[in-house]
Amino acid sequence: MNQLNKKTLQDIEVSGKKVLVRCDFNVPIEDGKITSDKRIVASLDTIKYLIENKAKVILCSHLGRPKGEVNPQFSMAPVAKKLTELLGQEVKLAEDVVGDSAKALAADLKEGEVMLLENVRFEKLETKNDPELSQKFASLAEVFINDAFGTAHRAQCSTAGVAAYLPSACGFLIQKEIEFMGGALANPKRPLVAILGGAKVSDKIGVITNLLDKVDTLIIGGGMAYTFMASLGYSIGTSICEEDRIEDAKKMMADAKAKGVKFLIPVDNIVATEYKADSEYKLVDSDNIPDGWMGLDIGPKSRELFQEAIKGSGTIIWNGPMGVSEWENFAGGTIAVATAVADSGAISIIGGGDSVAAVQKLGFADKMSHISTGGGASLEFLEGKDLPGISALNDK
Ligand code: AMP
Repeated sequence: MNQLNKKTLQDIEVSGKKVLVRCDFNVPIEDGKITSDKRIVASLDTIKYLIENKAKVILCSHLGRPKGEVNPQFSMAPVAKKLTELLGQEVKLAEDVVGDSAKALAADLKEGEVMLLENVRFEKLETKNDPELSQKFASLAEVFINDAFGTAHRAQCSTAGVAAYLPSACGFLIQKEIEFMGGALANPKRPLVAILGGAKVSDKIGVITNLLDKVDTLIIGGGMAYTFMASLGYSIGTSICEEDRIEDAKKMMADAKAKGVKFLIPVDNIVATEYKADSEYKLVDSDNIPDGWMGLDIGPKSRELFQEAIKGSGTIIWNGPMGVSEWENFAGGTIAVATAVADSGAISIIGGGDSVAAVQKLGFADKMSHISTGGGASLEFLEGKDLPGISALNDK
């Protein structure tokens, strides 16, 4: 994997050039209004750098799932409007993706001007990584910059295919993802602690397998912990369990032991009678979950155990909540871990919707070194997989 050695914006000549930038403007929209502009704001550093360096900027992104059809519901118009506001200069929207309107606007662009293509997924072949469509994207510009980490694990025309026809580099957002996640995996400040949670073991087997060769400590919480408990022969009541992964869980724990990796699972749990926000609940040890009760959060002894491991770490990778953190009664474990990570002084890298939401809700975002902008992409990166949207870019 050579994803750590990619050209960045600063390694490529952009002055006076038409630069096509793949952004992640896949923002939530209700009644034609953007309800969170976080992703647009996150992309401003790259766009402003290009404006200041006299590039002719052609932005593009997908928005929702129009499935290859032109559908006004998924138009980039609200994004163009928001960009115009945020940049304080007009961002013209092409009426198509790579058609006459896009070509005409691109041909007219002056240095420091910015335009936006229509939703790349209005083109049927976008998600097929079709070479002809990739060439059409390339013909609009002289340089390609990918800054959409959230779709970097997909080989599509505007994320990967186009890079075959233009000099290319990553933007500041992808550069930061590579620096932090790549750095944590390749050359971490030790001890390196990974904390994995969330609902399913099956979603994270690849990540655990890859991390077992790299981490000093692996902490497992959330619903996935119960499959590990089951593999130790504990009765887990009605807790979420993937029967077909019990053998994998057993093997992962044995591998951890063989590799000298400290492997921590919850020692106590908040268990409930029903999967409900206001269910009756109580505290029990992990080897003592009664029939008819399900674990929905880690208990106080587990929080302390995990906090101790987090306290002494040099680098922390955290993905997935420790319990059903959407519900107040079962959010305590996730909050305890978020607090410990924020106070640790370690290099901290957070990914996954629910763990990121917990960190943001608690106001800890500024205390974390890096909050990943891509759920699926960050998991694939941690699995050690090649992300097509990154590998397609030019090496330094
Ligand atoms: P993921 O998308 O894999 O990161 O999983 C996040 C989901 O896992 C959240 O919706 C949580 O509610 C859920 N989750 C966490 N802990 C548990 C648990 N003990 N039982 C059931 N679901 C859980």
